[in-house]
Amino acid sequence: MKRSTFLMALLLLMLSLTGCGEQQRRESHFAMDTYMELTIFQGGEDGAEQACFDLMDAYDDALSITNRLGDVGRINEKGTAQVSADTVSLIHTALEMARITKGAFDPTLLPLKELWNIAERTEEDPLPKAAEIASVKAFTGYEGVSVAGETVTLQEGMGLDLGAIAKGYVADRCAELLLKKGVKEAIINMGGNVRLVGQREFNVGVIDPRGQNGTLLLTMALSDCSIVTSGDYERFVEVNGVRYHHILDPETGSPAQSGLCSVTVIGKDGAMCDALSTAFFVLGVEDSMKIIKEHRLPVETIFASEDGRVAATAGIGEKINLKAQGYTLEVLK
Ligand code: ADP
Ligand code: MG
Repeated sequence: MKRSTFLMALLLLMLSLTGCGEQQRRESHFAMDTYMELTIFQGGEDGAEQACFDLMDAYDDALSITNRLGDVGRINEKGTAQVSADTVSLIHTALEMARITKGAFDPTLLPLKELWNIAERTEEDPLPKAAEIASVKAFTGYEGVSVAGETVTLQEGMGLDLGAIAKGYVADRCAELLLKKGVKEAIINMGGNVRLVGQREFNVGVIDPRGQNGTLLLTMALSDCSIVTSGDYERFVEVNGVRYHHILDPETGSPAQSGLCSVTVIGKDGAMCDALSTAFFVLGVEDSMKIIKEHRLPVETIFASEDGRVAATAGIGEKINLKAQGYTLEVLK
């Protein structure tokens, strides 16, 4: 767990627009490699928080690439495994997202993730050579995943990594659970992967990707949706002016260089928002917009570029209050 991730989790500011000073219950929990923060504003039986954290832990066990006994761990170790119906459903969604984004989101980049090892990389570590990248890349590609009933099989040498979609999916399942437990209004913040529950509007902040200590890029009032940001500022090393971060371009096999520094996707389906935020970060503004239009995707998107441009889709542009200096806001057609 990196300190920067924790800071981001803390500073993704959400202020309730109504009912200031009212009672709220806030609890945190470490799971899925990040600090989860759950805030319940209204309703909910005793133990709703714990039930939600238990659910996160169960998904963490099933979906983590480091738990050899979990669903993903067993698929990766044996190349084929029978897994839960839930995991199968998430894998189907992941493959669908891979198809829609023409492979920019690809849940089989595990061998490249291990090669780059961004989480533990320092400036002194030698960068992977082009030949190494090419030979590892040969073992990636979502077409190599097959699902028959509840059995998932990978082609030889491949590895499954649901890290770019799992938190969004789990946030949706937690929101369902909280509603079932009588919670009326809540915020589930999974390290910057946010789900707003209930009808109340919250003022949601997006971090300035080039700001100091989590200053805000913008705020907007939203309700009953997921807000997911993918950025290059959480885990990275910089070598000779190039930023090597944790979002990989499946085409090049290296960290994406699309000119973007953060992408925020807003929508009802958290898994979709999570997968798309990663894919759009790889694709850049123009190709992402083509995909949104081609598939009429039910999402709004905010792209922040290296050159200080904030570009937002029409359904969210008007709602944005730009907070950071040096950025200009453009509403996309
Ligand atoms: P975070 O999990 O930090 O919020 P993302 O949702 O963008 O960020 O997921 C990034 C993680 O997903 C990486 O750490 C890696 O495990 C995996 N990943 C990296 N690039 C891709 C990609 N193009 N498609 C799918 N998964 C990816
Ligand atoms: Mg993602």
